[in-house]
This record gives sequence, C-alpha cells and structure tokens, in this order.
Amino acid sequence: MVELKTDTSIDAMYTAGQVVGQALTAARKAADVGVSLLELDEVAREVLRGAGATSPFLGYRPSFAPVPFPAVICTSVNDAIVHGIPTRYRLRDGDLVSIDCGAELDGWVGDSAISFVVGKPRPADLRLIETAERALAAGIEAAVVGNRIGDIAHAIGTVCRAGGYGIPQGFGGHGIGRHMHEDPSIPNEGRPGRGLPLRHGMAIAIEPMLLAGGKDGYHAAGDGWTLRTNDGSRAAHAEHTVAITETGPRILTER
Ligand code: MG
Ligand code: MG
Repeated sequence: MVELKTDTSIDAMYTAGQVVGQALTAARKAADVGVSLLELDEVAREVLRGAGATSPFLGYRPSFAPVPFPAVICTSVNDAIVHGIPTRYRLRDGDLVSIDCGAELDGWVGDSAISFVVGKPRPADLRLIETAERALAAGIEAAVVGNRIGDIAHAIGTVCRAGGYGIPQGFGGHGIGRHMHEDPSIPNEGRPGRGLPLRHGMAIAIEPMLLAGGKDGYHAAGDGWTLRTNDGSRAAHAEHTVAITETGPRILTER
C-alpha cells in the first residue's frame, strides 16, 4: 500500500533529510587516504547524535541478512555496489567509495547516498560517478504528477545503459516515510508509461546503481550483506529521497 504524505509530513521528512545530507557531507569530508571505514561511520554517528536523530540502518535486518546491520552508514568500496559494512579497512589512493546513510527524526526517515574517489581518481571512475548522478537527476526529473513509476525507471535505465553500464537487477529505489522501505518499489530500469501513477504526496528514494563492467551480475559477499560485481569492475551508487508534489519533485535530502 502506498501512503500519501501530507505537506506537513513532507516538511518533517525534509528536516530528517537534512540530517542525512549533513552526515554524508561530514563523512565525505573525513574520507581520505588512510582513513578507515569505521572512522567514517563514527563521523556519521556523531552528526546523527548531535541532531537528536536515530539510524534506520543500525540493527536493520531484512530477510536476506545473516546479522543485523552494525553501522549507521553503508560503505561500499570499488567492486562493492551497495550494503558494504564499515570495517577497519583503510582507504587507499584511488578508491571509489559509496556511502549510503539514513536518519530518523521525529518519526520520519531520510535516505541518501553519494559516490566519490579518495586520492587521485581514474578518469573511468569519474565518468561512472558522473553518470550515476545524471541517472539520479533524470529519475528525479521524471518524478512528476501525471507520470508513472515506469517513467522514472525508464529515465534512470536509459542514462545507465547509454553509458555502457550494468544495472543490478532486483535492487533499486523504494517508497519511504515513517519506515525506510515502503511501497512502491522504484526499479532502475523499466518501460515508460507503465506502473503506478505518481501522485502528490508520494515520497520515494531514487537510487541508481551502476556497474562499470557493463554486465548486470552481482553476488553477496561472505558477510552476507555486501553486494559485489561478478566481474570485479567498480560500481557507483547515488540516491536522494524525493517528494512528488504538484509543483514538481522536491529533494528532501539535498546537501
Ligand atoms: Mg540508501
Ligand atoms: Mg534507499
């Protein structure tokens, strides 16, 4: 069931979304060669704590997970696509890092992700990240009243495929509100004009995931959480929480 949010609720989600944006900005600023993923998690925890927010990631345990998620951010490095658990791993020159963060404030949740390179970037990684951001922007642009979910999916998928990138099937965006994952699902590829019509008050997370090798294959790593590319190629992830309104899409996790 898709729950439509009131304008007041969307304002409250924006406030939660700002905390997510601040946590991502702080974690990105802290990320550098030699810094550990656990240290980035600590930076994000501090931002959430300071804002009086809690983490919808911490302790989260979907059916596929062998253990509850132990952190407030996902840190997915190089061939990790999403859901990477922060570890003692220290970032190296040229690592491609994706950080995904959520925050819950006053009962409302925001969810957003960024990808970037620490140290000296490879041109191919910059192109991958730039395309992920463009796919996200295209998805947001299609998130308007009168369109359907398939229009968002098609917009994202078109940008990804035009770049020659793979798209992991079965993972994508989602409704969001009082819970991190609500109906509907927002696939990263689809047919225009299909699916649920978009209405004023829908809140969704849009999150393209791009695989540099051009193939769609992925697998869960030994920790049961981290998704990695099958071909070892790098991956990028970009995400915003967006409200669909009569006056256009409103990015609730803007930074
Ligand atoms: Mg996320
Ligand atoms: Mg999400």
